[in-house]
Amino acid sequence: MYVQSKLPNVGTTIFTVMSSLALEYNAVNLGQGFPDFLMSGELTSLVNDAMKKGFNQYTHMCGLPLLRERLAEKAEKLYQTKINPETQITVTPGGTYAIYTALTTVLQRGDEVIVFEPAYDSYIPNIEVNGAIPVLISLKHPDYSIPWDEVRQKINAKTRMIMINSPHNPTGAVLSKNDIDELRKIVTDTNIIVLSDEVYEHLIFDDIQHQSVLRYPDLLERSFVCFSFGKTYHCTGWKLGYCITSGALMKEFRKVHQFNCFSCDTPKQYALAEYIKNEDAYLSLGPFIQQKRDFFRELMKATPFKCIPSHGSYFECYGYDFTNESDKDLAIRLTKECGIATIPVSVFYKNREDNKVLRFCFAKKESTLEKAVEKLVTLK
Ligand code: PMP
Ligand code: GLN
Repeated sequence: MYVQSKLPNVGTTIFTVMSSLALEYNAVNLGQGFPDFLMSGELTSLVNDAMKKGFNQYTHMCGLPLLRERLAEKAEKLYQTKINPETQITVTPGGTYAIYTALTTVLQRGDEVIVFEPAYDSYIPNIEVNGAIPVLISLKHPDYSIPWDEVRQKINAKTRMIMINSPHNPTGAVLSKNDIDELRKIVTDTNIIVLSDEVYEHLIFDDIQHQSVLRYPDLLERSFVCFSFGKTYHCTGWKLGYCITSGALMKEFRKVHQFNCFSCDTPKQYALAEYIKNEDAYLSLGPFIQQKRDFFRELMKATPFKCIPSHGSYFECYGYDFTNESDKDLAIRLTKECGIATIPVSVFYKNREDNKVLRFCFAKKESTLEKAVEKLVTLK
């Protein structure tokens, strides 16, 4: 039977490729981004309680109302913004789904979407499957900042959306207030929608304040802001997240969402509605993960890799010049021969631009990080 592919140039995501290779070669997995330490026992008990109480049937299509109320309270406390939980928040099966749904909600065939590279690997296929066109702009080396002049040059009547991601995967770069001001200037009086991927909102280091789009009501009017409980509570396998936007955009978002997913995991939403009251659980996350970044960075000094400093996320990138191998070849060799899996950063560029950089996930136990770096020290 003939199937005309909607994504003819897309293969299997690098995260699956590298995690499978890590399993096959019994390698320490610093590739795919997930913690190897336990999540909160209190939160898992709350899920258990909710299941025992019988909260096991469909919940509201837009998310458990109590959870949405608490998310609105949290947004107000953190970002001084008033969000209507009934009309502006929808709980989704993960951040990736929220992003896909937002794109599917607004993109028409031929629309252009500005994407900064390196870009999280779902963005471009999500644009293309909707018949729209990614317009690629490289972040500036070595700080991976946004070249706003180039953004201005690439905007035209077809530009429908700009996608931003801070803290950034894979580089750990974060947007400043100045970046947000540039973005506001560019989109004011246009029809451009913003997609702000903020799944790492709490994983931010060095006392930097997260510049959430939620802080800027004028931007929020035209933005889909996407979050992930998986990242905030060390439970990436839960695949739960949410989207916040204006009432008008959310009305359209829900038209797509209701016939794709309808409603998300009920007992986990009950548990999260209770656990979210614990502010410390998310406010302590930045310093907690920063310690891991610092520990890993210190260990990496004994290796031939050169640090490209991360200010947020689960990741730090490292350049190398001790071999001419491509980043992909090196990542495969490291997995097979040294027993450590990483992610080659070229996969986050559509044309596979290779700056000889690998991404390491440091959201791991210290013993895991030590075991991984031991294997790199002898590398030449
Ligand atoms: N955006 C970025 C930049 C990510 O790194 C991730 C990690 N998976 C996601 C979105 C999606 O998160 P989720 O697992 O909740 O779908
Ligand atoms: N966000 C994670 C990463 O960048 C993985 C997500 C996935 O496997 N799709 O590693």
